[in-house]
Amino acid sequence: MPMSDDPARPIARYSLVTGASRGIGAAIARRLAADGLDIVLNYRANHTAAEAVAVQIRQLGRQAWLLPFDVADRLAARSAIEGLLERQGTPYAVIVNAGITRDGLFGMMGDADWDEVLATGLGGFYNVVRPLIRSLMHARAGRVVCIASVSGQMGNPGQVNYSAAKGGLIAATKALAREIAKRGVTANVVAPGLIDTDMTKDLPLAQMLQAVPAGRLGTVDEVAAATAFLCSRDAGYITGQVLGVNGGLYT
Ligand code: NDP
Repeated sequence: MPMSDDPARPIARYSLVTGASRGIGAAIARRLAADGLDIVLNYRANHTAAEAVAVQIRQLGRQAWLLPFDVADRLAARSAIEGLLERQGTPYAVIVNAGITRDGLFGMMGDADWDEVLATGLGGFYNVVRPLIRSLMHARAGRVVCIASVSGQMGNPGQVNYSAAKGGLIAATKALAREIAKRGVTANVVAPGLIDTDMTKDLPLAQMLQAVPAGRLGTVDEVAAATAFLCSRDAGYITGQVLGVNGGLYT
């Protein structure tokens, strides 16, 4: 069970997963619960879907709590995180997963498309991790895993905003990893390629899959497995890394 880096000192701590009502975040929440963590599920609006994920987690014998807030809203996020720390103490793992796309060519991009994608994908990292990080460092064991994207590694035409958010998220996580390594807290990135979720359902997949050596979409469970590994005790010496889950799209 990924509770503490010290097997002699199991700490009953929980994991916070942002954007956990659907898709990759929901799969990560279920997988971390199967690995023995209680889960706090953040999401923005989709209460019914989040409640269904909570039920699945409770069926696995773990506790689940809903914590809806908009990760792009700094004050809302800060107040939710402060309340969480007061009620439940320090999490073991924080999964920064919430993200959105507003695709379009840069020459046509509206201000809101730029602002919202950056505020959610990159601002969400600051708004969620900043209020938590000192308590994680005090605990001297913990995991931060950020879900970026192959777009943040290679840059994707039509996604200048999203590539900027995810590239920034990768750089921020690497810098944070080096700041906190001495405290026994790791920070890593999982960078998925094309994964089968609501986010990709309206894309021209037949054409896009031609660029994927594996020739298929990835599954949410494959992303969750990589994330769970980085949260595990076995990954205690891995920090500041980007783990691609992309079928060979970017190597
Ligand atoms: P989905 O669109 O399927 O789900 C998005 C999740 O994020 C939902 O739970 C949603 O909550 C939540 N969310 C969105 N905005 C906010 C916000 N402002 N505050 C809180 N929660 C929010 O996305 P995926 O599962 O496909 O993607 C998850 C992550 O993985 C994202 O960061 C995405 O960029 C990244 N990714 C996805 C890839 C893919 O191919 N699918 C590829 C590479 C990276 P609600 O249900 O309430 O709206």
